[in-house]
Amino acid sequence: MTSIEVLKKYFGYDNFRAGQAEIISHILEKEDCLGIMPTGAGKSICYQIPAMIFDGVTVVISPLISLMKDQVDSLIQVGIPATYINSSLTEVDYSQTIQNIYHGMYKIIYVAPERFFSDTFINMLNFLDISMIAIDEAHCVSQWGHDFRPSYCEISKVISSLNKRPVIVSFTATATQVVKDDIIKLLDLHNPFVLTTGFDRENLYFSVQTPESKKEFLLKFLEDHKNMSGIIYCSTRKTVDEVYERLYNYGYKVSKYHAGMGEKNRTTSQNDFVYDRTEIMIATNAFGMGIDKSNVRYVIHYNMPSDLESYYQEAGRAGRDGDKAECVLLFSRADVVTSKFLIEHSFEGNHTNEYQKLNDIVDYCNTSKCLRSYILEYFGEKPKFDNCKFCSNCNSEIEITDITIDSKKILSCIKRMHERFGAGLVADVLKGSKSAKVKSLGFDSLSTYGIMSEYTRDTIRDLISFLVAEGYIKSIGNKYPILTLDSKANDILFSDTQVVIKKKIERILRPERNSKDDFESLPFDNKLFDILRELRMEVAKQNNVPPFIIFADVSLKQMSTYYPTDVDSMLKISGVGTFKLEKYGDIFIDVIRNYTQEHDIKRLDTLENSKSKSIATPKVDTKQVSYELYTKDGKTIKEITKIRGLTERTIEQHLLDCYENGMDINLENEINTQFENDIYDAIRKCSSGKLREIKDLLIDDVSYFDIKYYLIKMKLTLSL
Ligand SMILES: [Zn+2]
Repeated sequence: MTSIEVLKKYFGYDNFRAGQAEIISHILEKEDCLGIMPTGAGKSICYQIPAMIFDGVTVVISPLISLMKDQVDSLIQVGIPATYINSSLTEVDYSQTIQNIYHGMYKIIYVAPERFFSDTFINMLNFLDISMIAIDEAHCVSQWGHDFRPSYCEISKVISSLNKRPVIVSFTATATQVVKDDIIKLLDLHNPFVLTTGFDRENLYFSVQTPESKKEFLLKFLEDHKNMSGIIYCSTRKTVDEVYERLYNYGYKVSKYHAGMGEKNRTTSQNDFVYDRTEIMIATNAFGMGIDKSNVRYVIHYNMPSDLESYYQEAGRAGRDGDKAECVLLFSRADVVTSKFLIEHSFEGNHTNEYQKLNDIVDYCNTSKCLRSYILEYFGEKPKFDNCKFCSNCNSEIEITDITIDSKKILSCIKRMHERFGAGLVADVLKGSKSAKVKSLGFDSLSTYGIMSEYTRDTIRDLISFLVAEGYIKSIGNKYPILTLDSKANDILFSDTQVVIKKKIERILRPERNSKDDFESLPFDNKLFDILRELRMEVAKQNNVPPFIIFADVSLKQMSTYYPTDVDSMLKISGVGTFKLEKYGDIFIDVIRNYTQEHDIKRLDTLENSKSKSIATPKVDTKQVSYELYTKDGKTIKEITKIRGLTERTIEQHLLDCYENGMDINLENEINTQFENDIYDAIRKCSSGKLREIKDLLIDDVSYFDIKYYLIKMKLTLSL
């Protein structure tokens, strides 16, 4: 089989993602490889596919125990025989697994690095035909990596002691040049093919918000993101508890996770979230390592994280299935204070590095540049765009305010204070504070004293932060930084450079991003999607795996768009391979078939065509759906409103249209029939025939629905 055939057969995809095909072709040539790919780019496919093509067994070394189980579960679900060996196995399970391995029952074996060095394991490796060893999280080998594991350093020794050297491939999400060199040297990769796919996660919408009330922002956000999985990161345990409590009281299905909870509670909580029993995980940064939940639709940082590395890693837990997801950072000045406090109290020593990283993330929060390009540049990449059109900065209307004069005031004040004080005191002087400190230093006699008294102290500080971010002011020092003029300051002070603040007003409607083939935003049938989600939940429970392992959200959305009712059309759905089709195809096809029959939906049979660019809207006769719910199922308008998630007015209009078109429907149960004669009178009296005017002639209890109904009834009677 070719790699693309394996991809389709087992994983159900038609195309590789960026970089996958290239690295796989090198692995198949038996070259050592180093893949640097961001989380969510699909690196496991890169070794899983060659593993199925090679004759022997592939060993995968991974440091994350919880991830191993998920990976193995996923492989088994697609029909690839796999297992894992780590400390979570009981004595009995362990010896059973070893026995199975000797009997050649697996193609892929995951193993924790500590287990890799045992004599039994090495003997076994020599007994088996090992075609490839894949090392995941390869940065763990380097002292410079953020997750150094001494046991990783022994890997190359074990490999060199094997009778036959297999292909060695390694993967990592983050790698600076030093770490990259370390990986190649310490793992003893032979002239490896190195591939960097880039850090961009195109399906993630990045956004920075500075709401007046984070609480309200969050409630509003969640209201707009109902029935979706999401993570809310908070900087402290206390905030986790508070947010958890509040959302719980609002009736959300929430879990929480922090180091103060005890291992058992943490595990329960994590499983509830992974298995979709709860929808929202509220957690400190202790949560997430080794979680491979693919259908996380948003990650909110309730507080600013300590640096961009952790931010990108945590935010990156959204949208691993490739479907659109949002990453929102809620920024406030108080977070900067908390972060500084945490740095000061973290450990002894010089904190220059931490402060630098803090400044970088504060800049990220303040920048008016494209957020995506900011992140990519931070990680040393040159973005191919200035404007990604898919972040809150690119998606904002810009309101421009000229602050040249204010900037001059601030800069000259700093100068007059001899560039020896911090933002707080500079703001005090500009504001005209009567504080003892200002007086004792004699700053109340400066010409700049009180020249910005019309602003609040916070606004002045915001302006200062802006001038720092734009390179007019330098902030020097860590704990108590002082402000000095930067080289660009003279442009404002002595030439006519105009300074403007661009205030972002984010457009409410986020643009769809479907330029890429592998990322589609589908106009799917919500009702069917909900039904399929429930079905998936049941199937997942029976199989004791998380729902996303059965089918990803994207697959369900495609099913809810194309209504596959036979094996062939089901195979065209992304994420449905032959094995999953055999296992679950019938159950899902049955439900979809029933649904389409019930709602008289014609299936879209041009999946290939519609998949490309213009996705045809599913031909659901929406009025017909309402009609049947009303006439056949005997639902009231209110009930239909709930079932379909549409407004009452829409449903009323559906039914009125059916009535007007002569369909068999009796609406009198829903009508205030006692006003029939009054309404007819009003219609006759009103010469314009306008609804509004008719209504004004009647008492308030008469609704527009009543009037419209009798207008139609009159018309129908007259035309008879
Ligand atoms: Zn952007």
